[in-house]
Amino acid sequence: APAENPSVVVDAHGLPYLDERLPVKKRVADLLSRLSLAEKAGQMTQAERGAMTAPGDIATHGLGSLLSGGGSTPTPNTPAAWARMVDSFQLRAQATRFQIPLVYGVDAVHGHNNVTGATVTPHNIGLGATRDPDLARRTAEVTAGETRATGVPWTFAPCLCVARDERWGRTYESFGEDPALVESLETVIQGLQGRADGSDLDRSDKVLATAKHFVGDGGTTFGSSTTGSYTIDQGVTEVTRRELEAVHLSPYRDAVDRGVGTVMPSYSSLDLGDGQGPVKMHARADLLTGVLKDRMGFDGFVISDWNAIDQLPGDYAAQVRTSVNAGLDMMMVPYTYKEFSGTLIEEARAGRVTERRIDDAVSRILTQKFRLGLFEQPYADTRAASTIGSAAHRAVAREAVAESQTLLKNTGGLLPLKKSQRVYVAGSNADDIGNQSGGWTVTWQGSSGDITPGTTVLEGLREAGGPLTFSEDASAPTTGYDVGVVVVGETPYAEGAGDVGNGNDLELTAADKAAVDKVCAAMRCAVLVVSGRPQLIGDRLGEIDALVASWLPGTEGGGVADVLYGERPFTGQLPVTWPKSQAQLPINVGDPSYDPQFPYGWGLTTRTRVPAGGERTLAALAAAARAAERTGADAAGRKLVTQARLLVQRAADGHLSEAVAKPFADADHLALTGRYGAAVAKLTAAYKAA
Ligand code: BGC
Repeated sequence: APAENPSVVVDAHGLPYLDERLPVKKRVADLLSRLSLAEKAGQMTQAERGAMTAPGDIATHGLGSLLSGGGSTPTPNTPAAWARMVDSFQLRAQATRFQIPLVYGVDAVHGHNNVTGATVTPHNIGLGATRDPDLARRTAEVTAGETRATGVPWTFAPCLCVARDERWGRTYESFGEDPALVESLETVIQGLQGRADGSDLDRSDKVLATAKHFVGDGGTTFGSSTTGSYTIDQGVTEVTRRELEAVHLSPYRDAVDRGVGTVMPSYSSLDLGDGQGPVKMHARADLLTGVLKDRMGFDGFVISDWNAIDQLPGDYAAQVRTSVNAGLDMMMVPYTYKEFSGTLIEEARAGRVTERRIDDAVSRILTQKFRLGLFEQPYADTRAASTIGSAAHRAVAREAVAESQTLLKNTGGLLPLKKSQRVYVAGSNADDIGNQSGGWTVTWQGSSGDITPGTTVLEGLREAGGPLTFSEDASAPTTGYDVGVVVVGETPYAEGAGDVGNGNDLELTAADKAAVDKVCAAMRCAVLVVSGRPQLIGDRLGEIDALVASWLPGTEGGGVADVLYGERPFTGQLPVTWPKSQAQLPINVGDPSYDPQFPYGWGLTTRTRVPAGGERTLAALAAAARAAERTGADAAGRKLVTQARLLVQRAADGHLSEAVAKPFADADHLALTGRYGAAVAKLTAAYKAA
């Protein structure tokens, strides 16, 4: 029998759970059999790293996890300080009876954005515009490597939200409005975690991923929220069961197939029109357990959102009981970790939460900790620190920036620019690394200004050559120039409704409008919109020669210059519909009276050359896609169809490349699509033939 005194560290040497050679399942069972109820409750608890009243709290409460979240106390900002901090917490965890390592989590949602000097990649909306699953995966590899190098093995990403209303302040965290697009970019899960069976997770450049926010976070009805100033975030998703399955649940099937390690429920409520009224997602056993775990076979663990259980009805005991019984495995209870574990213990003793449920939760958590290799190596592998913000990583981000640039209008072929042209640059987002990075950069909300090393759009244009004058407010004389480039857009925000307060009007600021009007009246002009979602251009479109959606590129503004000066072609396509007016919102492709300014998928390309054999390839790919569709009754088949369609689309656009065919060559992908070997072989052969 194991020693019962929880404050005495046992000599675990020789115990099965520490034996690396044993299968994870056996190790989990062995460790679980030794744990007390209090230790199990501790594993299910995640505290905010600065909230612990005493450093010994990790050991005293046997905490399973810590986080630095959006709303956290300020965190250190250099890679070395991060590694030291996480290591010091892991050291504390070694003082628990069975020396169970913590699993530390952060929101590394576009690069390891918590650390000054890290490579900040485009936000998801920009990746959606690239339509490039392979590039999205490589971008996530950058995030994973830089995050793990600071000792952090877990990111609360990707957001699989299908953004259906651009007034939602988290639209930029979405790959787009179409579930098929979201699914196609779930290659980011492989980028973060590696192989679907979890066998790469112990690598020093991989992290555990979180698919969030389950489910329907992007589908809330405007104005439905009851939480104060939030007008759409955390509101109520009102859909039929059919729509829920097709639009919002669909991406989770794919994520489960890809082996995503954790899932985070949404703050929002769901109303399926079945007479129950809206029910908070954190209380929905039917979806968390019934659909996600039982039907889809999700074997990772479910982590609550920040303080989310506090929003459930009833007293605290009821909130704890309801959420754990619904299928939540670990609670993000940043400041109430003692109350949570204490209450859970009481509820379990009273039989209102079964031991079976608790054992299931703890097994799921321990499984991921073993897979991550944390029992063998809980500390930061600082050898990887030099990759943080490295030139190689920035090059990947820059490629993603370039591919995300979406050319909406290009009268008279104004773009690409020629180096001989004299350029007048203006606008609030031309020279602001903070604005072009958006929210979740260094701090939760992000901020304007020089917040982290990188290249602004203006600096990128300067490096690209060409004579250039910059006047942010366009106050410098406008005579004598060949072309104007006005970079407008949003200032950073995270969650809620964004920087537009309760108006949600997606209007450009008065200053940006004035700069556009002045420059475009004086010369031929290109307007670049640096924002997390479409901005209303309306009738102003008539005075603009070229319009580009630049999204939120992050630190590598050079990628914008690459396409502006024709180093690379424009290939981005709208991941969301671009509305004409406020009155059209919400607007999505497939709506009955769809009449946007630019439709979903719109994007001009400056590439004219169709690759050799392009047409033959296109036909072969289309045939393969049809073949896959015939066999595609399950998730793997559906995935294949999506990928094939994407290949066809990209071939049609004239940029079928090495990168596009690569996913099909990868062993893990083939394993995933094992039953469809023939169709995959056809696709690969068709590519090679091109
Ligand atoms: C957000 C999550 C995030 C968590 C931790 C919440 O407010 O909704 O997306 O992962 O905070 O920072």
